[in-house]
Amino acid sequence: MPEFILLISEQEIKKQLKKIGQKISIDYKDKDLVLIGVLKGSFVFMADLTRQISIDHEIDFLGASSYKGTASTGQIVFTKKPDLELENRDVLLVEDIMDTGNTLLKITEFIKKSNPKSIKICALIDKHERREVKIDVDYSCFSLEKGFIVGYGLDYDEKYRNLPAIYDLKL
Ligand code: 5GP
Ligand code: MG
Ligand code: MG
Repeated sequence: MPEFILLISEQEIKKQLKKIGQKISIDYKDKDLVLIGVLKGSFVFMADLTRQISIDHEIDFLGASSYKGTASTGQIVFTKKPDLELENRDVLLVEDIMDTGNTLLKITEFIKKSNPKSIKICALIDKHERREVKIDVDYSCFSLEKGFIVGYGLDYDEKYRNLPAIYDLKL
């Protein structure tokens, strides 16, 4: 039986998202903000984050997949492209977790082709141990050294996305 160890509670997530939402609202006050959520892992985070941002903004999603089980395949497949026009707009990528950094690097390169005015990254979790590329998270909600986490949108083989908090999964 897999074991779930509570890492971040619903209350902690809520409190931190309120802070990050306020910061984004201030930083993007005079900008043309478009949130782009990276599917599927960001869908719960995105839904909560957008409601903590008080300025007008638009949302879109892009589908990118890199994982099978707990080991990175090193391959990124785009399964959905954003629908909105991004030229000259201020894009904030919303990602569940940055691990090696390869996914966000490739997504950033891909979005740059649409000529946005700016691209920044907001990640629910910034996980450090396995970082392979030099890429910064502009808005990081939580930092983690290592581990494999599930819940709050994050899966293990497509399961456990529905858990309301964030858990360390021990198989
Ligand atoms: P990266 O390209 O940065 O190595 O990995 C990015 C993607 O791998 C994340 O967006 C996420 O979907 C998945 N991933 C990385 N670490 C974890 C983890 O601890 N738990 C889960 N569920 N997914 C992870
Ligand atoms: Mg992801
Ligand atoms: Mg996944």
